[in-house]
Amino acid sequence: MNQIVLASGNKGKLKEFAEILAEFGIEVLPQSQFNVQEVPETGTTFVENAIIKARHAAQVTGLAAIADDSGLEVDALEGAPGIYSARYGGEGASDSDNYTKLLGALKDGDKRSARFQCILVYMRHAKDPTPIICQASWEGSIGFEPRGDNGHGYDPVFIPAEHNCSAAELSSDEKNALSHRGKAMQLLLSELKAKGVLG
Ligand code: IMP
Repeated sequence: MNQIVLASGNKGKLKEFAEILAEFGIEVLPQSQFNVQEVPETGTTFVENAIIKARHAAQVTGLAAIADDSGLEVDALEGAPGIYSARYGGEGASDSDNYTKLLGALKDGDKRSARFQCILVYMRHAKDPTPIICQASWEGSIGFEPRGDNGHGYDPVFIPAEHNCSAAELSSDEKNALSHRGKAMQLLLSELKAKGVLG
């Protein structure tokens, strides 16, 4: 069976990728299994950070690697929290620290349009000069107060464009069908098929 390393320590993401790629005879292994340490995300864009993570995992393991980078982009804040989404409220910030800071940063009358972004990168090996890069977004706006208990991160304050509820009030199936990550994974699958990586 072919193996791919996932450059993430997130168990939910591992399960998602493993289930999808198992259908094609590919085993997805977490980078922790190879003792890959987290690499500093020194890029200033989602794409750079995803490439840094994939390259590092491929280099240490000698396997092809997949990495993702995602976050929330708010127009009135010039794209913040962006690549800093996970630590917007400070180092070690909780989800509620992050979205409380975001609600406070938006002033009355500010445009509240926003979107989640997800970038997925596949590198055949650490020196791959043409990684496969897929990007998808999920349009919406920032609400005025947190609502709902499902999901994670900024879901309680993100109102998807096609809904009157927050992302944290959607079921996980509803969210997967609409979300930046769900759409980016579908794009990556088609690209992997088109490029002959998947049979
Ligand atoms: P990562 O790609 O898992 O590191 O995500 C970066 C950060 O972006 C997370 O810590 C969340 O704060 C935020 N984020 C990314 N995707 C989502 C989502 O689907 N819902 C809510 N927050 C998200």
